[in-house]
Amino acid sequence: MSSYPELRLRPGKDRSLQRRHPFVFSGALDDHEPIPDGAVVRVTMRDGAFAGVGHYQQGGSIRVRILSFDDCEITPAFWERRIKSAMELRRAIGLKDNPATDSYRLVHGEGDALPGLIVDFYAGHAVVQPHSAGMTAALPEIRAALKAVLGDDLGSVSDPSTGPGEPRVIRENNNLFKVDWTGGQKTGFYLDQRVNRALVQSLSADRSVLNVFSYTGAFAVYALKGGARHVISVESSRPANAMAAENTRLNGLDPASHDVVAADAFEFLKSPGENHDMVILDPPAFAKHLSARHAAIQAYRRINALAMQAVRRGGILFTFSCSQVVTADLFRGAVFAAALDAGREARILYRLQQPPDHPVSIHHPEGEYLKGLALLVT
Ligand code: SAH
Repeated sequence: MSSYPELRLRPGKDRSLQRRHPFVFSGALDDHEPIPDGAVVRVTMRDGAFAGVGHYQQGGSIRVRILSFDDCEITPAFWERRIKSAMELRRAIGLKDNPATDSYRLVHGEGDALPGLIVDFYAGHAVVQPHSAGMTAALPEIRAALKAVLGDDLGSVSDPSTGPGEPRVIRENNNLFKVDWTGGQKTGFYLDQRVNRALVQSLSADRSVLNVFSYTGAFAVYALKGGARHVISVESSRPANAMAAENTRLNGLDPASHDVVAADAFEFLKSPGENHDMVILDPPAFAKHLSARHAAIQAYRRINALAMQAVRRGGILFTFSCSQVVTADLFRGAVFAAALDAGREARILYRLQQPPDHPVSIHHPEGEYLKGLALLVT
């Protein structure tokens, strides 16, 4: 049995942990002595039975993030077990030692039973992002476990204490991308669109493509590799635009086939020039919190209506939302309203989602954040 400070659930608050949801909210806990931020605690049910071991957080509404529903100690062996299991999942889906793709998400928070932890693997370099006090405190153990599990596959590790690491070139589905953490946007690369980009590539032959919210041009490279006639990328960040041009060259593509435009997407779409055979719309999260959800849905409706007007009749619109609080149904509703606004018909070809290296725990459905639709617009 673990020997951590014990916290007891309030009457009637057992159900969520019984259902293996990994969060304990502040209102669910009995009064207790002060506990250091990030400490490991033991949570018990109302009757004193063990419920879970997790990281305590002083601020925010989530008071405990459960690390284990087994009564165990959070030892170096625990971290190794969890990271090994995350690695096994990536092996099972064909991402380990894959000659075509050397970069993927290695740890996806709750989806890998490590709430509060993200690890992205970029061609031998692991970028560790702790999103809780407990994960920040555990960084030394996490780094040690990554080394133990990955062995020689791991060249270097960075985390907030070390800074971002050197720029490097990664390979995704045999396309090359420069990832530069120092260039303003610290996200590096959107690993969560890998599968959707491959679909874009497969449908791009002979099309003119408008790639909106293009960041470093990943969708553009895939579209051109798939035989697109011409791509226009629209993005407001100038450093990202410079990298989009660089990524075109890096893949041996004709720079004249890719125009990169620095513009606000909403403004650009008001007068997009001629219509396009394919439009890709991959905006940033319009809502980071529930309170912003309504405004976000209105923004999705507006931008999708503008995008539909930029698609030629019979063309394809790829449209995405990465706002966790906007569910797939709400997003689809916003796109439906957008079609009415635009006076266009749309048929769903594909329902899109985050790839399997961003797994969703069935006990934590909120982990499903990326959703998209590929539509035939007439
Ligand atoms: N499609 C990209 C990821 C897009 S992330 C990829 O596959 O890599 C969203 C992007 O939208 C960011 O790069 C951000 O800089 C850009 N952005 C945010 N607001 C914008 C606006 N109003 N107009 C144009 N670009 C914007």
